[in-house]
Amino acid sequence: MDLLPVESPQILSKSKRRFRSLKLVNVNYDDVLSETPYGVDYGRLNNGLTYYVRCNSKPKMRAALALAVKVGSVLEEEAERGVAHIVEHLAFSATKKYTNHDLVKFLESIGAEFGACQNAVTSADETVYELFVPVDKPELLSQAISVLAEFSSEVRVSADDLEKERGAVLEEYRGSRNANGRMQDAHWVLMMEGSKYAERLPIGLEKVIRTVSSEIVKKFYKKWYHLQNMALIAVGDFPDTQSVVELIKTHFEDKIPAPNPPLIPQFMVPSHEEPRFSSFVESEAAGSAVMISCKVPVDELKTVKDYRNLLAESMFFHALNQRFFKLSRKKDPPYFSCSAAADVLVRPTKAYIMTSSCRQNGTSTALESMLIEVCLLSHRTNLICIHFTYA
Ligand SMILES: [Zn+2]
Repeated sequence: MDLLPVESPQILSKSKRRFRSLKLVNVNYDDVLSETPYGVDYGRLNNGLTYYVRCNSKPKMRAALALAVKVGSVLEEEAERGVAHIVEHLAFSATKKYTNHDLVKFLESIGAEFGACQNAVTSADETVYELFVPVDKPELLSQAISVLAEFSSEVRVSADDLEKERGAVLEEYRGSRNANGRMQDAHWVLMMEGSKYAERLPIGLEKVIRTVSSEIVKKFYKKWYHLQNMALIAVGDFPDTQSVVELIKTHFEDKIPAPNPPLIPQFMVPSHEEPRFSSFVESEAAGSAVMISCKVPVDELKTVKDYRNLLAESMFFHALNQRFFKLSRKKDPPYFSCSAAADVLVRPTKAYIMTSSCRQNGTSTALESMLIEVCLLSHRTNLICIHFTYA
């Protein structure tokens, strides 16, 4: 059964009428896009912190705040594997100004769940702390910005704090060791082979989580957490942006930057001419799946042409996913479902990823059908095929 409308002459003539209101505009593809974010009050404090504030009236009387730190697991040394994530946990444990009890009370007052992973996320390249606050009580907004200011430089990394948090981090580690986690990790390692990213999954190593000292964690925090590597983003139902900028200045402006903070190094992901293949059999897997990825450098978004390409890519994936949907609704389809998307994996690299779920013995059929689409669309460089099945 075909659930999508076919392009009958009747429909085409209707759509022609529908698009008659569109107007052609002349644009120069080489024009450089403005670097000023549109509709945003933004700037940089003397100590290096960048801020972005935007009014957004929906949902009413709510705001989303984020402290985005360009520090993730790829910066860890071998003895520090998992430390970027541990720092994220310790931030919610205590800071110079706030005890653990204060932080719990504050999170309760804004209706947030307590805990690091509920309010923050650590990836290979960054750690982002997020708070969603009601704005009808101005003191809560001010306190939320003050909490993020504490996270930026005043996290208390003591031996006691670390001992208390080890259990929670270990529990998270164990939770990620299921079939799905093992398959995702294997896929990651295959995609990142030859790069430091391959050995820096944010969850880290069990041994490090169990034994790392508070001195090592503190050293990592002090080495990389600098205001020049951070941005404060505030979007919400504010009466104006200026009052929020003033609050950011109140809580951040007095912080003194370190004299010579290290630059954040760039870690490349090498290209490969020949496709890589891998197959995993997992007794605990809930189903069979095939994944095909093609790595490409992250696009620049500097000119009108870059923006045009971004729109074209988004339209292309929309059309491709419609095609996959049609194929999956055919009699005796090659897979139950299939979809494709572009995803930024790490700072220098993005990937076009095509994923399907299929019958237990159907991975070859699914792979063949997907590869036919890839042959129509792509080239062989940087191609990675992987299929998972359960036994
Ligand atoms: Zn966590």
